[in-house]
Amino acid sequence: MHVKVCKFGGSSLADGNNIRRAAEILRADETRRYVVVSAPGKRFSGDVKITDQLYECYREAAETGSCVNAFAPVRRRFLSIVEELGLEHFDIASILDECERQIIANKSADFTASRGEYLNARLIAALLGWDFVDAQEIIYFNERGMFDEARSYRLIERRLKHCKNAVIPGFYGMDAWGCVKTFTRGGSDISGSIIARGVNAELYENWTDVSGFLACDPRIVNNPQKIGVISFKELRELSYMGANVLHADAIYPVRKGDIPIRIKNTFRPMDEGTLILPSKKYVKHGNRVTGIAGKKDFTVIFLEKQLMNAEIGFARKVLSVLEKDGINFEHMPSGIDTLSLVIESKYLAGGVLDTLIGQIKEAVNPDYVRVLEDIALVATVGHGMTASVGTSARLFTALSQAGVNVRMIDQGSSEINIIVGIDNADYEKCVRAIYFEFFSNATEADE
Ligand code: ASP
Repeated sequence: MHVKVCKFGGSSLADGNNIRRAAEILRADETRRYVVVSAPGKRFSGDVKITDQLYECYREAAETGSCVNAFAPVRRRFLSIVEELGLEHFDIASILDECERQIIANKSADFTASRGEYLNARLIAALLGWDFVDAQEIIYFNERGMFDEARSYRLIERRLKHCKNAVIPGFYGMDAWGCVKTFTRGGSDISGSIIARGVNAELYENWTDVSGFLACDPRIVNNPQKIGVISFKELRELSYMGANVLHADAIYPVRKGDIPIRIKNTFRPMDEGTLILPSKKYVKHGNRVTGIAGKKDFTVIFLEKQLMNAEIGFARKVLSVLEKDGINFEHMPSGIDTLSLVIESKYLAGGVLDTLIGQIKEAVNPDYVRVLEDIALVATVGHGMTASVGTSARLFTALSQAGVNVRMIDQGSSEINIIVGIDNADYEKCVRAIYFEFFSNATEADE
């Protein structure tokens, strides 16, 4: 039989009503056999996510040896969810007591934060009458703290093949020393992807509070087009540049297993959402551009040296300096005698930039060094660009007509994206100009 793995995010499970809605969705399709759940998220703007409240518990416990104050809102939230759901026979009070005790005894931020997912999974399993399978039994990290694929997939397959249905908490697993370890924030998306791969699902359904990806940020363009279908490669480019419906690392496990992801809206389950497909299953759609995303606050270090092209090892020496200082670079466009490093400005604060330039001068003795600060990057992404002539001409004409000064250009070798570096101040104007060039019938968002 076909198997779907579902993951519900925190806003989809924030209170009893929403959890009931999620349960209906799960029951409506018997191929939805396994569900990965987040901790309850915000119920309204200004509300506190359970995970954030749990980090508060960790701080209180570390300082005072008790977390009685910070744990009280966690307790209240779970008690009220259980009451709303009418789960009288589910003894949440004892489970909460045990959690509070373990948080104090464990003294671990990861363990404490993981309890939101744990508690939610326990109560959702009780509501559905499904098995509860703890993530720490089946998702493992190795000695270097990396996800241990081989071991985890073996355990997932072995453990879940005997469960008709199971609820699994997201966000955490077990490290090589037997302690709970979490992924980075939003990591339940990764857990869902891992479970989908582990049971070789036909589809990974990721249920959230939006109807999929949009072609650009709706704060910049009013009501941008929805992305119906997107490839993993395109999504990787867009999520890296800031489109954040799905955790960027959630792509890998399913991508390796050629398992598609569908983003669905818990509050509008009839909406199609966005289907994310492996490249070989991806059929090109009408648009040559699939989406536009970007980020502000980069610094470009521009180096020039005569006959740089003939100096073997120039780039290596520059990159060794970055490596030694542990600084990540985003892009490195180069010309015959020029090379630029594009780095997120946050890594260069507090005098790091000056030190870095000093070290680069020492390493490669450039003729000229220039620094451009407050640069934004905007990526225009789409498989359709590969085959069609004139995409960049249209893009740059649109930018020049909008009066956007392009400070840097980088076209990835995969040809599915063109990245432009512009002043931070031109960011919104740039995104709009590209959007209106490639997507018609749109109106500008109010500024
Ligand atoms: N609850 C965790 C967080 O808030 C993980 C998740 O929801 O995916 O980051």
